[in-house]
Amino acid sequence: MRRVYLDYAATTPLDREVLEAMLPYFSEKFGNPSSLHSFGREAHEAIETSREKVADLIGAKDNEIIFTSGGTESDNLALRGIAYLNRDKLKEKGPHIITSSIEHPAVLETCKDLEKEGFEVKYLNVDKYGLIDLDELQNSVTKGTFLISIMFANNEIGTIEPVEEIGKIAREYNVLFHTDAVQAVGKINVDVKKLPVDLLSISAHKIYGPKGVGALFVREGVKLKSIQTGGGHEGGTRSGTENVPGIVGLGEACRLAKIRMEDDNSRIKKLRDKLIKGILDSVEESYLNGHPEKRLPNNAHFRFTAIEGESLILFLDQKGIAASTGSACSSKKLKASHVLLAIGLSPVEAHGSLRLTLGRENTEEDVNYVLEVLPEVIGKLREISPLWREK
Ligand code: PLP
Repeated sequence: MRRVYLDYAATTPLDREVLEAMLPYFSEKFGNPSSLHSFGREAHEAIETSREKVADLIGAKDNEIIFTSGGTESDNLALRGIAYLNRDKLKEKGPHIITSSIEHPAVLETCKDLEKEGFEVKYLNVDKYGLIDLDELQNSVTKGTFLISIMFANNEIGTIEPVEEIGKIAREYNVLFHTDAVQAVGKINVDVKKLPVDLLSISAHKIYGPKGVGALFVREGVKLKSIQTGGGHEGGTRSGTENVPGIVGLGEACRLAKIRMEDDNSRIKKLRDKLIKGILDSVEESYLNGHPEKRLPNNAHFRFTAIEGESLILFLDQKGIAASTGSACSSKKLKASHVLLAIGLSPVEAHGSLRLTLGRENTEEDVNYVLEVLPEVIGKLREISPLWREK
């Protein structure tokens, strides 16, 4: 049976070249980067070369990149690191963070935790496309606001937020701006030289790198409190012996992303557009979720009347097609996605949604196969759906 992977927003396969770059650091180049001997120096140099490659992809300086265990840790480090540094300073004014209602749980759950610790958090609404309202953002700034954290692009519906405008507002009010760019880096141009962003999260496994490694960009001059104590690695910001093979993998994935991004994404976008048009044309009562233009080039997200998303995923899986109903983290919970509810869908509509995210390995044949299988599967599911028959 044909197997078609359309879940690149959940994770990507490791690129061959990335794997090859990593392999020596599991075996002969095994040194601890903190050791002073040649083994240690070799590992240390590999980390610094990777730092240059990550920095180069986003237009940062080498000393602005901190390696972490992935997007989740980068988000935690950004939010908690800034929050804990400001808690006492802003005690009188009421320390206040602004975020959005559609963030990844790595940001949302961290904010909820910070609320329990006495911080105030404002969760901005989004419109039907998933875009925040810049006026609401501006009106939400209080005397105690010290941080705005709004994602670059949403992991479920692919909507790209107005990062430049958000950053300008942050600068105007002298507030730091963190953006979770886990889904954006490597897919669209992210240049911190041009963007007024202070902190930015990256994850390797979304860009054909390994799982369990990421980075946080921290603009020169921005201070944050370390959230784990230890030997003072990464300039004292992130203690713990570095994941050398992982970091080498992230660096190589960033180098390749820089070279391939334009070609990859114009090809992927064409396939994605064919998929969207094909599905909307051939499936009755199908709708696109997310913004029609301001969206990631690889994201297609649909809503189908009288369809139960989990059943759809299982039927597609039987046909060899790997897709997702929401984000990978929430797809095992039968709770309607907070993102889909935030854009105004009812719980039933949210449950009838499907995310297809494309990547480097997808071909036109893959898209044709989905266009052949999906309308058929939806037809079958609707035949047995009381919601469809009642219509
Ligand atoms: N932020 C976003 C927008 C994501 O899509 C993800 C992963 O799905 C994360 C953060 C978490 O990244 P990681 O899996 O590297 O912890």
